[in-house]
Amino acid sequence: MELKNVIENVVIKLLKLAATRLPKDVEEALINKKKTEKTAMGKVLLESILKNIELAKNSNKPICQDTGTIYYYLRVGDNFKELGKLKEILISALVRATEEIPLRPNAVDLLKGNTGNNVGSEFPHILWEIVPGDQLELTVFLKGGGSENLSYLRMCNPNEGLDGIKRTAIDAVAEAGKACPPLFVGVAVAGGADIAMDLAKRALLRPVGSRHPQRELAQLEEELLDSLNELGVGVMGMGCGPTVLDVHLEYGCRHPASFPVAINICCWASRRSSAKIYSDGTVEYLTPYL
Ligand code: SF4
Repeated sequence: MELKNVIENVVIKLLKLAATRLPKDVEEALINKKKTEKTAMGKVLLESILKNIELAKNSNKPICQDTGTIYYYLRVGDNFKELGKLKEILISALVRATEEIPLRPNAVDLLKGNTGNNVGSEFPHILWEIVPGDQLELTVFLKGGGSENLSYLRMCNPNEGLDGIKRTAIDAVAEAGKACPPLFVGVAVAGGADIAMDLAKRALLRPVGSRHPQRELAQLEEELLDSLNELGVGVMGMGCGPTVLDVHLEYGCRHPASFPVAINICCWASRRSSAKIYSDGTVEYLTPYL
């Protein structure tokens, strides 16, 4: 099979896996929370989320009617054979996947309305990183609109330091009932507002339970996880059970005069799936499932 057909098929499979299954770490986090939940109502709510996941898995249907904004994160080798055609392949795979899975068409043109096939200006959103080698590592991320509406940016005063990060995250998650909790919270500080927002979303791609390699920041992630759960928003905003399943923090160096703190939130349906494709057509699927 030609490499471009291999890539298209892999992308469709990744979109299908992301839409219909949750990664093992996400599903296990929900299962573990159900086991340790003390309130009867919290247990029932987590049970219904887990039943939803099981039904989607068994019927090969999307986990949620909102199949999200489609993000493609690419790490492409400078010698990858189809580098020049990748954008075209990613888009044609999405058109096919929208019809075949099916995915709800979510691309709404500012002037003309819904494009009907999930393709339009900046939709899908493709983020490129060129690295040495002849392989393509691709992550698809289906980002729900409800949780995206809770995105939050505060241009803190630089002297607020780590307290500014904590306050911003707490303010963002206090509204979280509207975003189908329990949530994953991405937090980032970087040189400009747009860089921080991008990093906060990338933070959501880290495996559940992973901690920042720097000890102080790993501790801050743990502290935020506890503080955000103390807000008591609860499963689906019902005031019982967990509010947040994990917090991941990323940073880039900031400008001396700026301290942008960005928060990106994902609902329990954290739908991501990754694969590596080599120029000889070999494929490795990287996301484990239960
Ligand atoms: S926030 Fe998540 S679970 Fe809720 S409707 Fe959107 S995609 Fe679905």
